[in-house]
Amino acid sequence: MSELRYDPMKKAWVIIATERGVRPVNVQKREHLRSCASEAACPFCPGNENRTPPEILAIRDPGSRPNGPGWRIRVLPNKFPALTIESPLERYGEGIYDVVSGFGAHEVVVETPDNLEQMADFSVGHLQDVFGVYRSRLRDLMKDQRFRYIMIFKNHGTEAGASLFHSHSQIIALPVTPNLVAVELASTRDYFQLKERCMLCDIIHQELEDQARIVLVEEKFIVFTPFASSFPYELRVVPRRHSHDFSLVDDDTLAHLAFAIKEVLTLLRKELDDPPFNLILHTAPPFTHRAGKPYYWSSIESDFHWYLELVPRLTMIAGFEWGTGFQINPTSPEDAARFLRESEI
Ligand SMILES: [Zn+2]
Ligand SMILES: [Zn+2]
Repeated sequence: MSELRYDPMKKAWVIIATERGVRPVNVQKREHLRSCASEAACPFCPGNENRTPPEILAIRDPGSRPNGPGWRIRVLPNKFPALTIESPLERYGEGIYDVVSGFGAHEVVVETPDNLEQMADFSVGHLQDVFGVYRSRLRDLMKDQRFRYIMIFKNHGTEAGASLFHSHSQIIALPVTPNLVAVELASTRDYFQLKERCMLCDIIHQELEDQARIVLVEEKFIVFTPFASSFPYELRVVPRRHSHDFSLVDDDTLAHLAFAIKEVLTLLRKELDDPPFNLILHTAPPFTHRAGKPYYWSSIESDFHWYLELVPRLTMIAGFEWGTGFQINPTSPEDAARFLRESEI
């Protein structure tokens, strides 16, 4: 049984998930990934549906049956979950320490039936469908009032944490608010209380004026390198119109998002030799009533602004970074943006 433990000195939650010790040993060197990934051995390949738990959602060809071939995108419970929906939600103390039972949801989005196709290869239409699946799962999970936050992310490449080559993303619904998320929610809320403006709307305005860190400007999205980028070529993909909750975006917005992501992934593949990366959705938490905190998210619609973070994993996290929590970034965000902006796809 996994559990969430709180480090009172670092003010950080961790998940102690011992079941995951038996994860599939499929961690290969990046250069060997393509040749090692075999369809017969891959639990995400069509024909191997019986090797995964029953699907939660799938986009399927008409007439195809659940848990058989004929799907284009498939969502499954993670076979090696960090948290499980079956665990009761319990909060308790162990002396000085705080613990929450391992209640949560851990799902896998298998993004394509093709064993070798990677996200950068997807058509814009297929990418839109993947984001549509994210939105559906988010809508569904947000109905469960026990979840404090729902994290959707993708690991591409072993250096970014992927343990299977077949292109997939993950969804983890948590019974606590992760501290990085809590900091972001609090800073944007405080900014709004002071100025009655959304911080990210102000950042968009300034970045468009400044231009130095802009990588792509599209009708509904901008892509830029953050002013204080922690990592080389770190990118933010942000809707230009204020919107706090990814579960509420419309299909047209998803189509524009798919176009922007396709452009950016194509750029990264060409200019940085298909780097490992993490793609992370930052969106508003489920709106829940919390006893004793009646105003907790009362301005969230106005103060938070959803976005995607795309972080190529080109540098290692070493002792200094580990000890201080801040990164030494050898590439300025202005140089990174100029390099990507001037690339001709
Ligand atoms: Zn596969
Ligand atoms: Zn905004």
